[in-house]
Amino acid sequence: MKIKKIETVCKSHLLMLRIHTDSGIIGCGETYYAPSSVAAMIHDWMSDYLIGQSALDIERHWRFFYERFINFGGRGAEIRAISALDVALWDIFGQSVGMPVWQLLGGRTRQELPTYNSAGGTGYSPLSVSESDSKGKEKLLWPGYGSRGYEGPLEDNWSSVHRPVEYAKELIDSGYKGMKMWLLDPLAHQSSGPLYLNYNDIKSALKPLFDIREAVGYDIELMLDGHGFFKWPAAMRIAECMREIKPLWMEDVLRVDNIELLKQFRDEAQVPIAISEMYTTRDDFRKVLEGQAADYIMIDPTWVGGISETRRITEMAIPYNIPVTMHDCTGPFTLLSGIHVGIACNNVVFQESVRAHLQVVYNDLIDQKIEVDNGNFLPPERPGIGAAWLADYFSESEETYRVSQ
Ligand SMILES: [Mg+2]
Repeated sequence: MKIKKIETVCKSHLLMLRIHTDSGIIGCGETYYAPSSVAAMIHDWMSDYLIGQSALDIERHWRFFYERFINFGGRGAEIRAISALDVALWDIFGQSVGMPVWQLLGGRTRQELPTYNSAGGTGYSPLSVSESDSKGKEKLLWPGYGSRGYEGPLEDNWSSVHRPVEYAKELIDSGYKGMKMWLLDPLAHQSSGPLYLNYNDIKSALKPLFDIREAVGYDIELMLDGHGFFKWPAAMRIAECMREIKPLWMEDVLRVDNIELLKQFRDEAQVPIAISEMYTTRDDFRKVLEGQAADYIMIDPTWVGGISETRRITEMAIPYNIPVTMHDCTGPFTLLSGIHVGIACNNVVFQESVRAHLQVVYNDLIDQKIEVDNGNFLPPERPGIGAAWLADYFSESEETYRVSQ
């Protein structure tokens, strides 16, 4: 079965990808962030190698690209391009043998994968990451700068600040065991915010967590994401205030490019630490694990090299007794990739998900509803990755559509 055609579409920060084979099977993949640079990698460079090759030699293609790109510092658009292609090739493999990807990875280690809800919303999603500037021009936002949204059903970023207790109770009632918030982003974006935080400001930003603890005790796990914004003194004050909350973890409070400092932070924070979806290679995670810099490692499947590398990093963490938590807030195939690896490997403690994305945003992108069952994802039954992009996106009339064949 040979690769015949590769198509991409850029939607906001999302790169949507399809690989066509000469047998008629179409595989779907994605990655997130600066998508036109990834599309350029694929169409200007990688497709020349891939077209005409076997679609089932997933590992050969992965190694070919990785071993060349890493020589040019390829931890950015290059590894995201490999990720999107890898997911689509696993999808093709699964469809070709009529089995879901978790089966191809060795089968189920569990009947369900727990998820926690992250405080996104319809306005904090892969398709809604822009806002109008003062002149009315659409401006792309940076990750960690998303809108709080507005009051309404599934507007959990708004609810996490303005009605945290009702929001927590809603999640508990629907079976969720955990919830994650990014309450500190506004503090980080104020002048000097990453450098210095006043205790009053921290306490007031974290008040929703204290309110939830007071109302429901430990009936739900709480996580806090700092999006990598803070310097050491501000981070230490945040940690000090978080101890009383007893969070499941505190995530990316410091920027992640100094592993020695992250190890020191884990030693001194006295709060469990998760790092980081911002790492994009297996070697980054090796350093974290060997340096004992984290209590949990957080993997984004479409930033680290797709299903192939996500599986390898998840397995690598086992001898260190460090559980993996899978990132999503970015797109449906990132989520599905994490679910397949999490079903096949018993070292994944939680898969991240966002209610508004599952129930609204992703339904405008793919042909399969992804459901949460009492706080868990069940093993997808459909052959392959378990969904396909809606075909209408892949049309010459889409401004960002590119095709290689
Ligand atoms: Mg995060």
